Amino acid sequence: MSVSPVVIVGGGPAGLAAAAELRLHQVPCVLLEPRAEVSHRRPRAKTTSVRTMEHLRRWGIAEALRAAAPLPVAWSQRVTFCESLSGQRITDFDGAFGLTTHRDDRFAESGQQVPQPVVEEVLRGHLSGQPGVQLRFGHAATALVQDLDGVTVTVRDDGGAEYLIRTRYVLGCDGAGGVVRDQIEARYVGGSDPRPNFNVVFRAPGLDTALGPAVQYWVVGGATTGLLGRLDLAGIWWAGFPGVEAAYGTAHAGELIAGLIGAPAEYEVLATDPWTARMLVADTFADRRVFLVGESAHVNPPWGGHGFNTSVGDAINIAWKIAAVEQGWAGPELLASYESERRGVVEQTVASAAANMRSLAGDLPADAAVIQRAKHAEFHSLGLVLGYTYSGSPVVQPGGGSGPPPADLSCYIPSAEPGRRLPHAWLPDGRSLYDVLGRGLTLLGPAGADAAGLAAGVVAGVVARARERGIPLTVRAAPDGYPWRDEYLLIRPDQHIAWRAGDPAGIDLDVVTGRKGTG
Ligand SMILES: Cc1cc2nc3c(=O)[nH]c(=O)nc-3n(C[C@H](O)[C@H](O)[C@H](O)COP(=O)(O)OP(=O)(O)OC[C@H]3O[C@@H](n4cnc5c(N)ncnc54)[C@H](O)[C@@H]3O)c2cc1C
Repeated sequence: MSVSPVVIVGGGPAGLAAAAELRLHQVPCVLLEPRAEVSHRRPRAKTTSVRTMEHLRRWGIAEALRAAAPLPVAWSQRVTFCESLSGQRITDFDGAFGLTTHRDDRFAESGQQVPQPVVEEVLRGHLSGQPGVQLRFGHAATALVQDLDGVTVTVRDDGGAEYLIRTRYVLGCDGAGGVVRDQIEARYVGGSDPRPNFNVVFRAPGLDTALGPAVQYWVVGGATTGLLGRLDLAGIWWAGFPGVEAAYGTAHAGELIAGLIGAPAEYEVLATDPWTARMLVADTFADRRVFLVGESAHVNPPWGGHGFNTSVGDAINIAWKIAAVEQGWAGPELLASYESERRGVVEQTVASAAANMRSLAGDLPADAAVIQRAKHAEFHSLGLVLGYTYSGSPVVQPGGGSGPPPADLSCYIPSAEPGRRLPHAWLPDGRSLYDVLGRGLTLLGPAGADAAGLAAGVVAGVVARARERGIPLTVRAAPDGYPWRDEYLLIRPDQHIAWRAGDPAGIDLDVVTGRKGTG
C-alpha cells in the first residue's frame, strides 16, 4: 500500500489548485484523475477572475496562463449586446469580468478570459515533475474508509487494476459526479433550473463582426437568441443557447449558429455540450479527514463566471490549512474552519448566479437601458469576487466586522476588517504588496518602519510567541500611503486578515492557528 499525506480525488480546477497550494507549502500529495488529457471541445469556464489570477500569481504562473490564453486581455475587455453578429449594436459593458489593461490599486492581477482546458493544462504543466506531487492520470478513486489515524483510498487504474493508498487527508475534488460526497454520506441540497442549455463549439475562420472585439456577444430580441464568443483568434468559436433541448440542438446546431450570426457564413460544428444549471450546496463539506472541495460541495449556474473560481477558492482555503497542520504550526480547529469560512462564500455565489439567470438572452428585449439594469451585476461583480469575508470564523479575530454582506455585489470597497482579503497596494518598486508577504503568517506593521526595526521593537513579543510555536511569521512595514498604515494586520497565507490591532501584544496566535476556539 502506498502512503501520502494528502490524496486529491479529481484533477479539475479544484484538484489542480489544491495540488498547487500544497506544492507551494511543500506538502506532498497524490492527485487522482481519470482523464488522461483535457478536452478542448468542452471549454466550459472562460472567466478566470481577478482573485483566481492573484492566486496564480502567488504560485508564480499568472504570466504563464496569460501567455497560454488565446485571447489577450488587451484584445477586448467588453461584452456586447446586439441584434446579431451582423446586426446592430444594442449596448456594451466595458471592463467586464475584471478585465483591464491598466494597473488598478484594488487588485494585483486583472481578470483573464481563457478556456477552462487551457487553465487545466497550465496547472498540469506547473505541477508535472514537481517534487512531492504525484499526478496519476487515468486513475480514479472508487471508495474510501476512515479510521482514527487516517483514510484508506481504493483506486482503479486505467488498466482496471485496483490498489490502495493510505493518507491522512482526502480532498474530494471530484465534481458533481464524483464518489467522495457519497462516501461521506453528504447530500446536495437545492434544485435545478427547469430550462435546458445547449452549447456548441464551432470552427468559422472567416467569421468576423463589424461590432468589434468582445469576449461575449449576446444576441437578444430576435428569433434566435443566445450568446457566443471566440475561443481563440484563429476561428474557433463557442455558442450557448439557453432553453434549447439537447435533441433539438443536435439536430439544428447549424441553424442556431446561423441565427446568432444573422448572415450567411461558413462554419463547421466541432462539438456539442448540453448542460443544466443547478443551485446545489452539500449539507456538509467535511467528515473528519475528508473534505469536499469545489463542485463536489456546490454547483452554481455559470452566469457571471464564478463556478471554477469559487472552486479554486475552496481549494486554497483547505490546502494551506492542511499544510499548516502538517508542518506542525496549527491545530485541528483550523481544519474545522474550512466549512464555516467557505459555506457563506458559496451560498452568496450560488444566490448571485441564480439572480443572473433571471434574465437570459431570450428574456431580454433589444433595449439598452433594460439590459444595463438587468445585466450590470453579472459583468461587474468585484464586490463578490474580492469583497467576501471570513469574519465569524473560529480562527479569525472575534468581533471584527461581522456585519451583513454588502447588498451591491458589483462594487468592491477595500476593508481591513478581520476576515477580509488584505486590501491591495502597489509598492514604490512596482511590486504588489502581495509579492512581499510570507508563505506562512505575515504581520504588516506601521508604515515607515523597516522589517528589522519592527521585529526588534513593539512586535518582538509576537515574534517570540510565533517562534515558540514554530509559526513561520514574516514582518513587513505597510507601504507609505496605505490607508491602514498605523495598524497591525496579521495576514494568513491566503492573504486574508486574521487579526487587526493597534497593539500587536493583543494578537492571539492560538486562535488564528486553530489551537484554541474563540469561545
Ligand atoms: C457552460 C458552462 C460555463 C461555465 N463557465 C464558467 C466560467 O466562466 N467561470 C467559472 O468560474 N466557472 C464556469 N463554469 C463552471 C466550471 O466549469 C466548474 O465550476 C468547474 O469545472 C468546477 O471545478 P471542479 O474541479 O470542482 O470540478 P470538475 O471540473 O467537475 O472536476 C472534477 C474532476 O474530478 C474527476 N473525477 C470524477 N470522478 C472521479 C473519481 N472517482 N476519482 C478521481 N477523479 C474523479 C473528473 O474527471 C474531473 O476532472 C461553467 C460551467 C458550464 C457548464
